[in-house]
Amino acid sequence: MVEKSGSKVAVLGSGPAGLQAAEYLSSRGVEVHVYDRLPQIGGMMMFAIPERRIPKKRILKRREELEKRGVVFNLGVKVQDGNVRCEGDEIARQRTGFRELLHKYDAVLICTGAWRSRMLRIEGEDSRGVYPALELIFRIRLKELGYVNEEPDLGHRAVVVGAGRTAVDVVEELCMRGINVALVYRRKLAESRAYRELAELVRRYNIEVYEERNPVKIISNRGQVTGIEVCKVLRIGDKFTVDEKDRLVIDCDSVIEAIGEEPTPPIDEKVASEVGIEIEKGRIKVDEHFRTGNPKIYAAGDVVLGPSSIGQAVGTGLKAAKSIELYLREKI
Ligand SMILES: Cc1cc2nc3c(=O)[nH]c(=O)nc-3n(C[C@H](O)[C@H](O)[C@H](O)COP(=O)(O)OP(=O)(O)OC[C@H]3O[C@@H](n4cnc5c(N)ncnc54)[C@H](O)[C@@H]3O)c2cc1C
Repeated sequence: MVEKSGSKVAVLGSGPAGLQAAEYLSSRGVEVHVYDRLPQIGGMMMFAIPERRIPKKRILKRREELEKRGVVFNLGVKVQDGNVRCEGDEIARQRTGFRELLHKYDAVLICTGAWRSRMLRIEGEDSRGVYPALELIFRIRLKELGYVNEEPDLGHRAVVVGAGRTAVDVVEELCMRGINVALVYRRKLAESRAYRELAELVRRYNIEVYEERNPVKIISNRGQVTGIEVCKVLRIGDKFTVDEKDRLVIDCDSVIEAIGEEPTPPIDEKVASEVGIEIEKGRIKVDEHFRTGNPKIYAAGDVVLGPSSIGQAVGTGLKAAKSIELYLREKI
């Protein structure tokens, strides 16, 4: 039995960073309350990464173990102050204010990840059949996990824009469903960090690849996507422009934009400055102790690093938790 320290910490987000911190702090006798807007713990491990890479049973077992140690999970609760929105918010049952939690707890650790897809911001993007990649993956997982009855209808032919890790997962999900996929990438495919995985999928599923092409317009009929117009990319140094004269239209029923994700703090910049936190390029700024400008507030994982990996999220979550422990003992 761990001796209680008498301190209470709120951890926002139950992804790998938040869970690691909750595990460490609870092992040091701290009362830990985890808040997550989703109906189950695990963050991207549960709601983005496929079962074949991370068995969900493992995450559920972890929840049981943490609950046995006294960690409390408040699920379906979106913590927010100010104008913040991210993919999957609509599933939250309840909202609670960030400042309210700050008041209630001895320290707050923000591990809210990177849950907003970057968008191309081109004409026609509001058409039916256009999906941010993370939203699509999230909806597919919700269906697999039994939280909703249907997956989005993507038609017979989809265009995936982008060639990173999320694009790989999207392409694979679509191909497994028998959907015809075309891939559009602004560089040569061989330049992608996910080249090996993508090349394997291209070979296995006979995917059409449009390299050094950038979308300029989504074409629709009565609001439903029917195609995407792409131009040849011209590269001058590391600047990208397009050759307006070299255009082609790829016919499709859906477009999935997989061009990256952005960190999603639970507060906007205005509230952040009111509580003493700095948000730089969307990320929460922390010092070497993973502490923000407010000594009570810490942050870890993708919300600090930008899209990273489970290992990095776990590592920063642990470091932040150790710093919180020192802070609670008035050592830093
Ligand atoms: C499609 C895809 C595949 C990936 N595959 C891999 C892989 O194979 N291997 C690997 O190492 N990494 C992979 N990653 C990256 C990895 O999943 C992330 O880097 C990691 O999960 C980040 O951990 P985190 O704890 O910072 O955030 P997350 O795992 O994103 O967890 C954040 C949690 O915070 C919650 N939350 C957000 N905002 C609020 C709020 N305001 N109030 C309450 N709760 C909130 C979210 O619901 C979420 O549960 C993948 C990412 C994606 C998108």
